[in-house]
Amino acid sequence: MNFNDYIRNIPDFPKEGILFKDITPLLKNNRAFKAAIDALIEIYKDEEIDYIVGIEARGFIIGTPMAYALNKGFIPVRKPGKLPYDKYTASYDLEYGSSELEIHSDAFSKGDKILLVDDLLATGGTTKASVDLIEKLGGEIVGIAFLLELKDLNGRDMIEGYDIFTLLQH
Ligand code: AMP
Repeated sequence: MNFNDYIRNIPDFPKEGILFKDITPLLKNNRAFKAAIDALIEIYKDEEIDYIVGIEARGFIIGTPMAYALNKGFIPVRKPGKLPYDKYTASYDLEYGSSELEIHSDAFSKGDKILLVDDLLATGGTTKASVDLIEKLGGEIVGIAFLLELKDLNGRDMIEGYDIFTLLQH
């Protein structure tokens, strides 16, 4: 299975100069989607994990089947104004623009072991903001998993010291 056959490059989206990695062909193909999730869960099947935290929106698509397969609960990190209860907010810079992310203040307990999941590691800003939110709640990040890493953007530098796994590297 060559997962790269199912990643579509869209130049200049959503802004000029950005090469957007479209994962919808992978999600649409039952074998590619299953094989990608299976490869990710294989990495973490023996890891001690309390919860999987996924980042809106494509982190939900990757993180929830992982949580289901690993028999863990799923916790969303969401874009502003979506979470209904008490929450913490973190600001971050994107490859294109800036934004904020939020997590419920009671999402998990201090000391819980967290696997953080998103679809793609670009500059690392989104992940770093999510790491900050998890650590504000006292979570212990046991791993950070991505479908795809854009190596030239050096996102790993933003989240140095954490156990990072990326299924594909572009
Ligand atoms: P970053 O904070 O720069 O690491 O950006 C990561 C987030 O933005 C991920 O949630 C991705 O879904 C999205 N993203 C950033 N750059 C791209 C890209 N070139 N193609 C597709 N998604 C991207």
